[in-house]
Amino acid sequence: MVDKISAPYVPTCEELKTIKAHFKDDKDWKNEKFDGFKSNLITDLRLKQDNKCCYCKWELGYDIKNVDIEHIIPKSKYSQFTFNPKNLALSCPGCNTSKSFKNVLHKPVKLYPRGGTNIMIVHAHFDDYKECIEIHDGAIYEGLDDAGKGCDTIKICKLHRMKKVLKKMRKANAQKSPVKSLVESLRTATKEEQQELADLVVQLINNSAGN
Ligand SMILES: [Zn+2]
Repeated sequence: MVDKISAPYVPTCEELKTIKAHFKDDKDWKNEKFDGFKSNLITDLRLKQDNKCCYCKWELGYDIKNVDIEHIIPKSKYSQFTFNPKNLALSCPGCNTSKSFKNVLHKPVKLYPRGGTNIMIVHAHFDDYKECIEIHDGAIYEGLDDAGKGCDTIKICKLHRMKKVLKKMRKANAQKSPVKSLVESLRTATKEEQQELADLVVQLINNSAGN
């Protein structure tokens, strides 16, 4: 299956009226009049993006702080695209912050692009993620396509950071639940490691019996 957003969000008539009445430039994005539009857009895109960040593909959290509405072409440079549904996708706050307002266009544009050719990174509405990036072990990103979209996305969104994030998460989990971590280690261990771990378990049991 193609990994891109099947169709952009379609604003309601009411939302379009609000946009028309209250949007002048990108700074208006923060206006609370658009809260309803944002909330509906998030609900719609969560489903279409399988609740995953459009850049790192990690699961998006359900708290509002754990999901960002990402302007693929930065709204600070192209304020006319601030409410263009094709320019909007969901990302994790980490990817959004890393990408910031970096340029993503090969050449400047006047109208919104109709396809991904002029865009340096994987465009969630135009490009098939699977053709551009392969993720190994959940956090190692490999650029695949000749156009270099995969590599540029990895660079611009600093996806190499996810390896560290995963390591920290595993460490935190191990501290929270040593048994769970032991089970996980057993599951992924080689034959020799399994024997070592089994010896460790016997040792732990003996220790606790002696106490
Ligand atoms: Zn992300």
